[in-house]
Amino acid sequence: MSVKGGHIQDDILRHSLENPEEFWAHQAEHLYWHKKPSSTLKLTSKKLKSGIEHDSWEWFPDGEISTCYNCVDRHVEAGHGDHVAIYFDSPVSKTKEKYTYRQLLSEVEVLAGALREDGVRKGDVVMLYMPMIPAAIIGILAVSRLGAIHSIVFGGFAPNALAQRIDACKPVVLLTASCGIDGNKPPIPYRPLVEEAYQLAAHQPRRTLVWQRDQVRWGPTDRSAGQATWQTVVSGAQKRGIKADCVPVNSADPVYIIHTSGTTGAPKGVLRDAGGHAVGLHLSISYLFNIHGPGDVVFTASDIGWVVGHSYIIYAPLLAGAATVIYEGKPVGTPDASAFWRIIEEYKVNTMFTAPTALRAIKRDDPENKLLAETGKRGGLRSLKGLFLAGERSEPSLISMYQELLDKFAAPNAHVVDNWWSTEAGSPMTGRALVPHAGKDRKTKVRDHEPPHLKPGSCGKAMPGFDIRIVDDEGRPVESGNMGNIVLGMPLAPTGFRTLWDDEERFYGGYLKRFQGKWLDTGDSGWIDGEGYIHVMSRNDDVLNVSAHRLSSGGIEQAITSHPLVAEACVVGVPDALKGQLPFAFITLSTPSHPTTAIPDEKTSSEIQALVRKQVGAIASLGGIIQGKGMIPKTRSGKTLRRVLRELVENATKGEYEKEVAVPSTVEDASVVDVARAKVKEYFEEVGGKHAAIEEHGIKAKL
Ligand code: AMP
Repeated sequence: MSVKGGHIQDDILRHSLENPEEFWAHQAEHLYWHKKPSSTLKLTSKKLKSGIEHDSWEWFPDGEISTCYNCVDRHVEAGHGDHVAIYFDSPVSKTKEKYTYRQLLSEVEVLAGALREDGVRKGDVVMLYMPMIPAAIIGILAVSRLGAIHSIVFGGFAPNALAQRIDACKPVVLLTASCGIDGNKPPIPYRPLVEEAYQLAAHQPRRTLVWQRDQVRWGPTDRSAGQATWQTVVSGAQKRGIKADCVPVNSADPVYIIHTSGTTGAPKGVLRDAGGHAVGLHLSISYLFNIHGPGDVVFTASDIGWVVGHSYIIYAPLLAGAATVIYEGKPVGTPDASAFWRIIEEYKVNTMFTAPTALRAIKRDDPENKLLAETGKRGGLRSLKGLFLAGERSEPSLISMYQELLDKFAAPNAHVVDNWWSTEAGSPMTGRALVPHAGKDRKTKVRDHEPPHLKPGSCGKAMPGFDIRIVDDEGRPVESGNMGNIVLGMPLAPTGFRTLWDDEERFYGGYLKRFQGKWLDTGDSGWIDGEGYIHVMSRNDDVLNVSAHRLSSGGIEQAITSHPLVAEACVVGVPDALKGQLPFAFITLSTPSHPTTAIPDEKTSSEIQALVRKQVGAIASLGGIIQGKGMIPKTRSGKTLRRVLRELVENATKGEYEKEVAVPSTVEDASVVDVARAKVKEYFEEVGGKHAAIEEHGIKAKL
């Protein structure tokens, strides 16, 4: 990548790409190695069964490291044992707890001892199916303490999704809880879900440890099936003085397996290397997030089941020695849209990280940001230095609005940072770094600094070690400013994956084959501008082909959401006889009481069409607009399920309103699909052939 721009972030990127050995060797020094690596990077190749060979690599090849030691013991030994490691805040169970690093260490070493008695050894897989409670973090660290590999399955996934992952990972132990609590709904008992998953799975963990919660108990544990109450096992181990020391692993050994959230296709088991993970996360939390150690507080409003949760609820804050807030609640409804602002005020949060979908939900419930302003006016947001957004494209209007709010109420120089990454990447591939150097000398660091300037709609510039390029379908470079496939040069930065669990063929087929092993395909489309800012517009599957023009759903959604009344938009391509595909929009308004009809009024409709024509072009004129509240389905990690809406519209064009659509198990709320189905039906029955664009472009013919 030719690094553009004159900002220090560009110099740091250039250094990381031109001299990766020197750059990452220096970063590795911030961590404790049980055996220091004698070299930084080994370039290798791998041979598939089919005979194809592809490039591969290993970071810190002969180093030995314990992630748990670096996250916990190291801080206690450095005299920081009394600093807070975890704040637990659960409005849904009305609980608040606090764990210092010393307390965390004592919990983790005992649980690790108990797991070792259950036969958990280095390299074994332990699965967690847990709600957002401190026991989950303790469980994860205890697994890592033994040099074992964890695989976290989002708590509340359906039994078939859990069974699929059990068979894929073959865990020796499952750590679970008696229930999860999803917002203001009644608690979900986990026992029936776990037991059904065991019936569906071919593999059976030999042990199931159950964290008993008061809201719903598991009932008597079935000893013959290897079930035991977590609390009883731990207090037994404690009484007997059972503890486990850290077991280091090779740098290239996995610390965890994580399954991609699966908006498309079957989930893939992404494997994370222990050494690269620790080094890369340590860099990102200091350099990008401006979090350095005791006294700093990180609030990542995600779930431990997603990669953002792995990296920025659990590992990165603890690697830095900061405090992390575990929040068991929702952005809205627990109890209202002020929840995030309350957390920031109460724990003096320095960086908050969430998905744009959460901010859209807040905007729907509090369109004028009254609740945020209430907290802001009494100085409750003064600790906040960064608001990080990832998981989906953020529309520029959302970024600008929050930047203005930060300017008014947060710390001086606070920034909204859109950052682009994926489960595979393990840490942000782009962003605007909040400190001016890559953590060279932590004592003399300048803690506040101007990152590259804000460009709403761009997710910033490349992060160290990520060689981001835009290429055409043949893998040839595309000129700056033009849309294309976003690919990565190899090796990836150290947090990046190198393979899939037990499936090298799928790794090659899914990521390398498309560009003959030259580039790693991210599956995203976008462009890089003249200053080196990256604009991620959509997943390749969501690119529309209108009269042979490639249009991104993200670009059209951006135009629609620039309308002041639109809180959220989702654009899908529907087949059209004339043009190939026609953009079709689903919108939610931010008016206090949402209209009940699916058809927007003439004025709003024509204003939206005008914005799309002006900002994207007449080619992108919408074939239809459906309005409704609670109608855009999302995955649990906040990604819009465009495919589901596309299928509903496609079926409606054939009059098949009730036809089943494939809804992935990752869906947050399946009832949203029913709302969308009803809206689509209402729209097509009502508007049908009368809709100008539909008539013009041929959907009418199919009605
Ligand atoms: P996942 O692996 O489930 O975390 O999903 C990764 C995908 O989410 C990426 O490939 C992008 O399509 C999308 N994504 C994540 N962050 C951003 C962002 N800041 N802007 C645009 N898309 C994003």
